[in-house]
Amino acid sequence: MKIEDIKYSALSGEFLTLQEGMMLNDQLSTTELMTIAHSIRMRMHPSPKVGWIIDRNVNYTNVCESGCQFCNFYAGKNSPKAYLTSDTEFDQKIEELFSLGGRQLLLQGGLHPDLGIRYYIDLFSGLKKRYPSVKLHALGPPEIAHIAHLEGISYHETLKQLIAAGLDSLPGAGAEILVDRVRAEISKNKCTADQWFDVMREAHKLGLTTSVTMMLGHIETVEERFIHLVRTREVQAERPEGATGFISFIPWPFQSEGTVLKKRLKRNFEVSADEYIRFIALSRIMLPNIPNIQASWLTVGKEIGQICLHAGANDFGSIMIEENVVSVAGADHTFDTQGIQLAIREASFEPYQRNQQFQAFHF
Ligand code: SF4
Repeated sequence: MKIEDIKYSALSGEFLTLQEGMMLNDQLSTTELMTIAHSIRMRMHPSPKVGWIIDRNVNYTNVCESGCQFCNFYAGKNSPKAYLTSDTEFDQKIEELFSLGGRQLLLQGGLHPDLGIRYYIDLFSGLKKRYPSVKLHALGPPEIAHIAHLEGISYHETLKQLIAAGLDSLPGAGAEILVDRVRAEISKNKCTADQWFDVMREAHKLGLTTSVTMMLGHIETVEERFIHLVRTREVQAERPEGATGFISFIPWPFQSEGTVLKKRLKRNFEVSADEYIRFIALSRIMLPNIPNIQASWLTVGKEIGQICLHAGANDFGSIMIEENVVSVAGADHTFDTQGIQLAIREASFEPYQRNQQFQAFHF
């Protein structure tokens, strides 16, 4: 296929093949990719609005038996650093979230060997009882697969019980690169790519809104990034009629500082600004059935994030009141509620505060 035909297909909202996507990557300049992606974005979202959200990231435990080589956050269960967030600490964090105008908790933790489904049911239902308006954007496919494995029950049953206890939406966490060659090397104790997608299929059948992340810039090849994109949109296409499925795609660059992976491979990892912006554009082009692309300002910073808004991204994500995993590996960008809105306006877009369903949210 000629490159002009591929560009036309992309602009028409067609699913490009992996090879066609790679041809765009190989042959187009950053400006050309940005122009195509921005046209697609404006066709899908004709208004210049860019979403943002206040949520509080509570990493409820750092105890984890996965040992991912890119993670500085985890501890063994007998480590002096091991912790589990208490009810009192949750209450204090939620009060603070509410006082800042947010309503969503992003709950993510390690794969704790002793926390079965009862812990999560009690946690979610307790939080909902004490704070009925709080939204729980919680766990992710690796945690769901881990709980299901501990309990000897299906993903479907695990999710059903967690939804009944108060789970509102499922983050696309722990995706890294959804190709098993990569996962076997950097996170071999975590769920496989098939298991990750199977959890999401079940979530979509149960009506949960989910998202997809990608951590790029470590040991993956360019082709493996495209496999991740193509599999994502295939699973999205399988969702039941009327289900939202994956509401957003969030790629972010690997933060290598102090990680086992950096020490083991003894090399620097860097995703340049140009590479990140190009990948945001390629994501918008390759994922025509996923409505929103988020620029991860937390890891790339304000200016690159602003350029991404002209490269297909239509969301700036969260001001993230508390974040422990990428911040201990080198990401140190911060925004407050005024700062994030100003950054969006400076990029010539119009900020709107949203909830996890991408609906306007007014406190
Ligand atoms: S990334 Fe998550 S699953 Fe992997 S070691 Fe860290 S806490 Fe555990």
